Amino acid sequence: SAAFSSPLLAGLNPEQLAAVTAPPGPALILAGAGSGKTRVLTTRIAWLMQTGQVSPAGIMAVTFTNKAAKEMQARLSAMLPVNTRAMWIGTFHGLCNRFLRAHAKVAGLPAAFQILDTSDQLSAVKRVIKALKFDEEKCIPKATSYFIANAKDAGQRPKDLQPRDELGRMQLAVYQAYEDQCQREGVVDFAELMLRTYEIMRDHPEVREHYQRRFKHILVDEFQDTNRLQYLWLKAFAGSPGVTGTSVFAVGDDDQSIYAFRGAQVGNMADFEREFRVPHVIKLEQNYRSHGHILDAANTLIAQNSKRLGKNLRTDAGLGEPIRVHEAASDFAEAQWMLDEIRQVKREGHPLYEVAVLYRSNAQSRVIESALFNAGVPYKVYGGLRFFERAEVKHALAYLRLIENPSDDTSFLRVVNFPARGIGARSIEQLQDAARASGRSLAQSVTAVAGKAGANLQAFMALIDTLREAIRGLTLRDIIEHVVEASGLAEHYRAEKDGQERVENLAELVNAAEAFVTQEGFGKDAIALPVDEPAGTIAAGLPAAVAAVELLPDAETGEIISPLLAFLTHASLEAGDNQAQAGQDAVQLMTIHAAKGLEFHHVFLTGLEEGLFPHENSMSDTDGLEEERRLMYVAITRARQRLYISFSQTRMLHGQTRYNVKSRFLDELPEDALKWLTPRNQGFGSGFEKPYRDAWASGKGMGSMVGAGAQPFRQAPAWGGGKRGEDNFKDLTAPIPKAMAESKTAGGFRVGQSVFHNKFGEGVVLTLEGNGPDARVQVNFGRHGTKWLMLSVAKLTPIE
Ligand code: ATP
Ligand code: MG
Repeated sequence: SAAFSSPLLAGLNPEQLAAVTAPPGPALILAGAGSGKTRVLTTRIAWLMQTGQVSPAGIMAVTFTNKAAKEMQARLSAMLPVNTRAMWIGTFHGLCNRFLRAHAKVAGLPAAFQILDTSDQLSAVKRVIKALKFDEEKCIPKATSYFIANAKDAGQRPKDLQPRDELGRMQLAVYQAYEDQCQREGVVDFAELMLRTYEIMRDHPEVREHYQRRFKHILVDEFQDTNRLQYLWLKAFAGSPGVTGTSVFAVGDDDQSIYAFRGAQVGNMADFEREFRVPHVIKLEQNYRSHGHILDAANTLIAQNSKRLGKNLRTDAGLGEPIRVHEAASDFAEAQWMLDEIRQVKREGHPLYEVAVLYRSNAQSRVIESALFNAGVPYKVYGGLRFFERAEVKHALAYLRLIENPSDDTSFLRVVNFPARGIGARSIEQLQDAARASGRSLAQSVTAVAGKAGANLQAFMALIDTLREAIRGLTLRDIIEHVVEASGLAEHYRAEKDGQERVENLAELVNAAEAFVTQEGFGKDAIALPVDEPAGTIAAGLPAAVAAVELLPDAETGEIISPLLAFLTHASLEAGDNQAQAGQDAVQLMTIHAAKGLEFHHVFLTGLEEGLFPHENSMSDTDGLEEERRLMYVAITRARQRLYISFSQTRMLHGQTRYNVKSRFLDELPEDALKWLTPRNQGFGSGFEKPYRDAWASGKGMGSMVGAGAQPFRQAPAWGGGKRGEDNFKDLTAPIPKAMAESKTAGGFRVGQSVFHNKFGEGVVLTLEGNGPDARVQVNFGRHGTKWLMLSVAKLTPIE
């Protein structure tokens, strides 16, 4: 029939075709990397609309990143002339934001509520801990912050929790007070976006029925990484299978589940299959992305995981190039080597945006960035210290947020004395006491502070009021320019010795705003545009002089969009997307987590070292190790044509030099698929690798540790539930097992000691094992590599 001869369907394989054109009803596509899951999902949306089965407003599509959402919108617009604004395409957080803006009243939120990012949340939690007079040593702010986020992700409010001990009682009290504080200030954190939306859907039948009627098709990408609350959230929007007529189409890959550390549950796939009564799971087995060697490596690696649903992947692409493996002496040398290779790739005529550099931890990017920067090679970092998280940018945003919502105490505290206005810590404390006593916001309490400080506080509020007046009728770009100047921020940084970069970033914020306005279809001079209105009509009909801060609710949904508010939301939700100028040809730098779902012609996978990848927090239990292996699988499968893998003998991380051993994941790749660019490490002690690893896994030994003269052992901070993952890494200093760091000696050697070997030259002792004739040491000999030596055989002399 006509429906099946659409050009949209051309080129799909039979399984993909079956998935795209599946009849209405629940569907689950379970398939490996690069098999076309995302393409199938996008094509299905287009096909459903083209065949008249649904209008744009009837579609909800959930993606994992904002980048993915944008790509999906772009592809849909290319396939069909549709208004993608009417569809709900976005991340869970992005969609929740949209929902809560439309239902702010029901949600008990001010229409201009602001979103706290992770660092805002932490400072808000700190304020609460202080107000409750808890000891920060016991009630650790970061751990408490995680505690709150975890509770919310599990759908638990303070009343649902039973403290088990003293710490539990404190954290619960903080949770309660933190909720009250957020409510008072009109702010929500990320987890709150989800939970609040879910609760409204659960508790308000009229809202629930509206959405269950509205959305005919809900499509979810990367389903394996949904957490419990997200699953419940989806169920709330979909309603009971067979009752609401909403079809849920989920695609996922259990081998790419990499967010267990944030509560993701692969089990959601099985639950979905059962609860939604999925007739049959569709599998896609043809990989269209990677050449044979790359795919072989990925398949061989992931086969070593025990917990798998079991899938196959094949390719018609031929073996292609082998994976190039490089061993570097230092992280610095690794970056230099990479730079040379990237230049070569460029000379071969490939665009830089087709080159990705992936790493396990954000902390690795600095060295790479500086190599690229010094060589003048443009690059773009996703994540890391994101643009919107930089101090100067947050200061500017805080002024804007205060203009929108004076009760936002977090923003108030950020800029009340920045630039300095003679308001000291004592006055702030006084102000906070007064605000607490009266249950009002800081802005409302300024008159409670006496004397000069009080006058300065009032002057600050007057400044905010003046700014609010002054920006009426301005475009977003002009608003930001005005606020950056009139607040004194620009002046402050211009006067600062090293302030040039910050001034530039403030200018970049103006550019970001302009790009945002254009991208979002507000039109350059537009001041407001309701979402479901055909683009252009409203904006064209309004004088540009209408106040930008005045909100236009959409007639049907009550949805509110003002460019300023939309931009502030964007800044909280989409931090990181805006880093490089659009269209610039730049190398793409990101963590492996952030690379999920993406693909590149060339991929550099760096830092393949025990302790870094697999990450030291994940190595002691099978589940942790399997998640790291899935992460490795994700990394390998990002590459289409050429994959480089590198590791380094030494690495500076968090101010300490670590001596490294290559990652076990390298040994898990098929020999035939690899091409070593450096001599393969045939170290004397390779036979020791296995017991050595076991020693590490049991916490008795480490392959990576701090070097000579390093700080004493530090306990890794105890996050709630032993969390791991990219966000935690930056806070960990490579720990050395206490026993080893303190006094372990063998044959007169100790860890960190400098030694001399007749053949290998100078080195540093990394590990000591065994006694007497059995004693062995692991020594890093720099360019000769890391070797295990039998002390009874090796001629080793101490040189200190
Ligand atoms: P991941 O698990 O990494 O998210 P995926 O399963 O979502 O991968 P896609 O990103 O949809 O895979 O597709 C991988 C690549 O293969 C894309 O470049 C896509 O355009 C291409 N592709 C998918 N199906 C086909 C097909 N039938 N013919 C040609 N190319 C295809
Ligand atoms: Mg995908």
